[in-house]
Amino acid sequence: MDHAPLIDPFLRPITYLRVSVTDRCDFRCVYCMAEHMQFLPKRDLLSLEELDRLCSAFVGQGVRKLRITGGEPLVRRDIMTFFRAMGRHLQSGALEELTLTTNGSQLARFADDLAAVGVRRVNVSLDTLDADRFAAVTRWGRLDQVLEGIRAATRAGLKVKINTVALNGFNEDELFGLVDWCGAEGHDLTFIEVMPMGDMEEAGRLGQYWPLSDLRARLAGRHELVDIAERTGGPARYVRLGGSGQKIGFITPLTHNFCESCNRVRVTCTGELYMCLGQEDSADLRAVLRGSESDAPLREAIRAAISRKPKGHDFDYSRARISGQMSRHMSHTGG
Ligand code: SAM
Ligand code: SF4
Repeated sequence: MDHAPLIDPFLRPITYLRVSVTDRCDFRCVYCMAEHMQFLPKRDLLSLEELDRLCSAFVGQGVRKLRITGGEPLVRRDIMTFFRAMGRHLQSGALEELTLTTNGSQLARFADDLAAVGVRRVNVSLDTLDADRFAAVTRWGRLDQVLEGIRAATRAGLKVKINTVALNGFNEDELFGLVDWCGAEGHDLTFIEVMPMGDMEEAGRLGQYWPLSDLRARLAGRHELVDIAERTGGPARYVRLGGSGQKIGFITPLTHNFCESCNRVRVTCTGELYMCLGQEDSADLRAVLRGSESDAPLREAIRAAISRKPKGHDFDYSRARISGQMSRHMSHTGG
């Protein structure tokens, strides 16, 4: 770390950055995007060089973990150039972990390259093991292509974690099937509670909000659940299944129970820094990047933004109308 660490007003060190590198995607998951998305013009996106400067500025100020997301990060042209550039921070020891969240469609192509630059783990989103359901929820995706990508990642030595959005009426009958498949394949599995984003009307046609408390109770009916103390500073909570020791995570982004340990911020593909997933306040880092060749103003802008990081967020499902609903799409902020 070349500069003083980033500490927010509630004394939380900011050590984790999620960066969206594109708003585009080769899928159109119903809870994430509308079928006909208007994507941003290229000039609005941060260039690969700008992404490098931006991430490096964060790493220079103590960010230890970098997660690349989107949209679908692996559909961005020349994205390996950026991954290679970030690999140098792994080599120097400045960065502890470089990772990505992907829909898996391009993993067969890129798994070896990712492993070569130092990526050790990938999160792959997979909501169902049924080919027809997969096509319905992703609109444009093909299950076999994703499964092939997952196999390629495993062969390349990457640890795969599966992320599954829980949708009642869609995949609740696959709870045990998904758990067993992940157990057999050696993948950790994390369930995500659906957030009020994307095209929720369309999502509602396929399935409904499924509280993870209910999912967890059903799992407990079949397995002993042993809580793991592990805290990532994010919204995930983990258990191990008694006997097999298989790890299962639960991400309930709508609860407040993780804000006090929040260690993360997000940057969109247009360079907006969001200090909290559930708040509108952001800082325009693209203007700062483009305004000066020196990185000093960038570091200053990051520091100023972190000093405004709020204590927590306002999502609330308890009222009939979803309040605290965010207008941004997940593909924009980077889930
Ligand atoms: N395209 C990549 C992928 O699908 O993994 C990365 C971006 S995607 C926006 C990141 C994660 O957000 C995925 O696991 C996806 O399932 C999740 N996600 C998208 N919309 C969501 C929503 N409305 N509620 C909960 N999770 C959502
Ligand atoms: Fe694409 Fe990921 Fe959003 Fe699905 S969840 S549409 S794969 S960005």
